[in-house]
Amino acid sequence: MTVIVEKFGGTSVGNVERINAVADHLMDKHAAGEQLVVVVSAMSGETNRLIDLANQISESPSHREMDVLLSTGEQVTIALLSLALHKRGNDARSYTGGQVSIRTDNVHSRARIQNIDSARIVRDLEQGRIVVVAGFQGVDEEGNITTLGRGGSDTTAVAMAAALNAQECRIYTDVDGIYTTDPRIVPKARRLTQITAEEMLELSSLGAKVLQTRSVEFANKYRVPLRVLSSFEAGEGTLITYEDESTSMEAPLISGIAFQRDEAKLTIRGIPDHPGVAHKVLGPISDAHVNVDVILQNASEKGFTDLTFTVPRSDYPVCKKVLDSLVDELDAKDTRGDDTIAKLSLVGVGMRSHSGVANLMFKTLADNNINIQMISTSEIKISVIIAEAELEHAVAALHQAFELEK
Ligand code: ASP
Ligand code: MG
Repeated sequence: MTVIVEKFGGTSVGNVERINAVADHLMDKHAAGEQLVVVVSAMSGETNRLIDLANQISESPSHREMDVLLSTGEQVTIALLSLALHKRGNDARSYTGGQVSIRTDNVHSRARIQNIDSARIVRDLEQGRIVVVAGFQGVDEEGNITTLGRGGSDTTAVAMAAALNAQECRIYTDVDGIYTTDPRIVPKARRLTQITAEEMLELSSLGAKVLQTRSVEFANKYRVPLRVLSSFEAGEGTLITYEDESTSMEAPLISGIAFQRDEAKLTIRGIPDHPGVAHKVLGPISDAHVNVDVILQNASEKGFTDLTFTVPRSDYPVCKKVLDSLVDELDAKDTRGDDTIAKLSLVGVGMRSHSGVANLMFKTLADNNINIQMISTSEIKISVIIAEAELEHAVAALHQAFELEK
């Protein structure tokens, strides 16, 4: 039996016409012999509309009730899609997360899937039914409705595919795959036919938000064959693969360029360089629930050092305040900040086996007169912090230098 999981996002089921189009597509696949489990999101805009309603009633709505509320969005779509399938002659069944036993932990609004009991789905599939499952939701041990965080239907689909040992998990969305970079900035950006899950994780955590990051982590853990493709036009999309030795030898140097605009940089200067300084500075920042990204400590000079780090731009005011308040306490000189920076990263598993990537990157930026403010690297990624005003120029120049359009 060839079980396939297909997931349709909000825009793909955004109105009755789109739902009918999805139903036609599913009937074709079913006729071609695929046993289909379909995961759907809420119709586009619906989750936001529900959040807005709750916010009109309470400024701090309970997470439990928010989950009860938000899960209704997906419940609407599963019923409508099933009706569209009935009209086309398939005895489809829709299920909420709880009904097909998508068991999660009890962390409302960002629950994690622990277990799926797929027996009921398998029975339906064996009877020729298309099974339609609500994305983004589950139930905890006590039967409370939970949701998986924004964009969580992707994770439902991947988890479903893992539980059913599906041949493929196809995520249909409003773009036709994963690109070398944002085509709005580089019109020559190219759709990748394949990308490793590891690269995909780097790209999605860097703001290339095609899939929920957690869904890629899940896919990576269970080696789920995952494909991203457009629900609006035909095509192969991009296949997410799992690296082995043979593929890494032939891997392209760079798969993509990711960037994040809304970043800010803070520096505390002239701190006496004792053990525990980084902790004393970054502890209070973390207590303010801010996620610090790149961190840089200068080599100390005459017993004093500087510490620079980046944070999401929206957290800049809070962080600046925290840092200013530390100057006296730590006997530091002063603080500096800049909330007009951006982060740009080259990502590629090919970096593991080839040298020279950093060199070409820095040369290209130098040739284009773009100043690098901070650098950080990992095994398959090199990131630089630059002025946001120079970001688009930098992305275009690097795309060309690494011949990503080819
Ligand atoms: N409807 C939820 C959201 O808008 C989940 C999803 O679409 O994946 O975030
Ligand atoms: Mg989505």
